[in-house]
Amino acid sequence: MMGNRRLLSCCAMTSRRTFLGTTVIAPVIGLTGASLLTQTAYAAALTKDQRDKMTPDQVIAQMKQGNQRFRAGKMSKQDYLAQKRATAAGQYPAAVILSCIDSRTPAEILLDAQLGDTFNARVAGNIANDDLLGSLEFACAVAGAKLVLVMGHTACGAIKGAIDNAQLGNLTGLLSKIKPAVEATRYEGDRTSKNDAFVDEVAKTNVRQTVGAIRQRSEVLAGLEKEGKIKIVGSMYQLVGGRVEFLA
Ligand SMILES: [Zn+2]
Repeated sequence: MMGNRRLLSCCAMTSRRTFLGTTVIAPVIGLTGASLLTQTAYAAALTKDQRDKMTPDQVIAQMKQGNQRFRAGKMSKQDYLAQKRATAAGQYPAAVILSCIDSRTPAEILLDAQLGDTFNARVAGNIANDDLLGSLEFACAVAGAKLVLVMGHTACGAIKGAIDNAQLGNLTGLLSKIKPAVEATRYEGDRTSKNDAFVDEVAKTNVRQTVGAIRQRSEVLAGLEKEGKIKIVGSMYQLVGGRVEFLA
């Protein structure tokens, strides 16, 4: 029993969890003697206390570090079963990410995050409609997330579709929400979907417009941001190179 306790204690001392893959020493004092399952679980997921202590800027900083690990091919080793156990009874995500459905842009992987770290809302062209705004409000005002990250990406098919005036079923209505970004993008030269540079400029404008729309159309989120409780920021993921660029 003593031996077992010492082992548990030892585990507790070195118990670490990773938020967005960043190594954090878990505050394990008082956990000695708890079940191994509890300790494993404790180490595998972000706790309410840990999340609540983070500032929006710290969340951004850790996302940047996670993306750096992704780009360097030095991602954290994931124990999904431990994460599943740790998060089954509750979740305390630090951020909510609004990104495109593109198969090449799964935010958790690009940011080296794990189960329980981030809420994820995905829609072609990362636009904001009422239902998405409601989802973001839930994430921050109800569940306590500190950051709303809008993530666009290069070579986005939805942006190309909006530039080309594509028409198809319900997609037509979705693309109409991106079109204001096409018009608002200042670009001299070839303003077609065949010009990668133009497509990416429109994607960037679209991210900025989505960030603006969130502030304008969600009193809840705009209020939380004014109080300094959350930040709403835009970003662009570069398919080539893998960098998530945070927009000022
Ligand atoms: Zn896309």
